[in-house]
Amino acid sequence: MKNQYRVLLYYKYVHIDNSEQFAADHLKFCKELGLKGRILVASEGINGTVSGTVEQTERYMNEMKNDPRFEDMVFKIDEAEGHAFKKMHVRHRDELVTLRLEDDIDPNELTGRYLEPKEFYEAMQQEDTIVVDARNDYEYDLGHFRGAIRPDIKAFRELPEWIQNNKEKLEGKKILTYCTGGIRCEKFSGWLKKEGFEDVSQLHGGIVTYGKDPEVQGELWDGQCYVFDERISVPVNQKEHVIVGKDYFTGEPCERYVNCANPECNKQILCSEENEHRYLRGCTHECRVHPRNLYVKEHGLTEEEVRERLEKLNEEEQVAKG
Ligand SMILES: [Zn+2]
Repeated sequence: MKNQYRVLLYYKYVHIDNSEQFAADHLKFCKELGLKGRILVASEGINGTVSGTVEQTERYMNEMKNDPRFEDMVFKIDEAEGHAFKKMHVRHRDELVTLRLEDDIDPNELTGRYLEPKEFYEAMQQEDTIVVDARNDYEYDLGHFRGAIRPDIKAFRELPEWIQNNKEKLEGKKILTYCTGGIRCEKFSGWLKKEGFEDVSQLHGGIVTYGKDPEVQGELWDGQCYVFDERISVPVNQKEHVIVGKDYFTGEPCERYVNCANPECNKQILCSEENEHRYLRGCTHECRVHPRNLYVKEHGLTEEEVRERLEKLNEEEQVAKG
């Protein structure tokens, strides 16, 4: 049956005593329930994505809300056709999101103003306003708010430095930040305020909440929203679908992420099925001819066949160059 499963996305910044023990106990608890997913636990709180049947996820949410620390935790719920993970992990970390700041930010003490989807939608269209994507470049490339700034970063911890090097883009503006579920903005917007930016707001509940809001229905979002589970992406804009992703090889509109078949590279690239075959799913020539190329393995290609494909590719490229 369809949609007998759910994916839950949630976080809460709240002090957890003896958080390492909590993480171990929580893993046991989740496994007993039959959930799969990835949960981070730190002394500053919890951040998780889990999948399970409707019943399993219902029990999880109820149990969590019985704990006074998590009674007001917001769960974003997506319907699904099956699990979105293969295993259940609960990992203990020093931070829920890695910023590695010298002076860490406690979002319970310092954070940007919370805007609900409708407020964010309206604020985006005001003058002297700038929208900053708080996610990584490959997330932005699959989808983002129309006109948002794309920080050129591969990991969240690079964001503060990127902002410091691009301050002029933000100075004197009303700043709006957003991320997938809201957790990164809690710290990022707090950090912006600490850096002296005065007018800083964040999208409460993140992109996933925005896409479900019955009033805005994801408007002004282009593309898809990248998610960190087997679904890879989820839709946001219910009114129109503008594709912003571009095929790595040809630049054609594309929303299909694959990992480079060279296991030592593993780079995520947007690529059509046709180009995956053509380029042996390798992002460079080196990755295509790598002795452990997974595409070659999966398709049982012989050395001869690989050479033929690469020769054909080479000829095509010569033709294209004229
Ligand atoms: Zn590669």
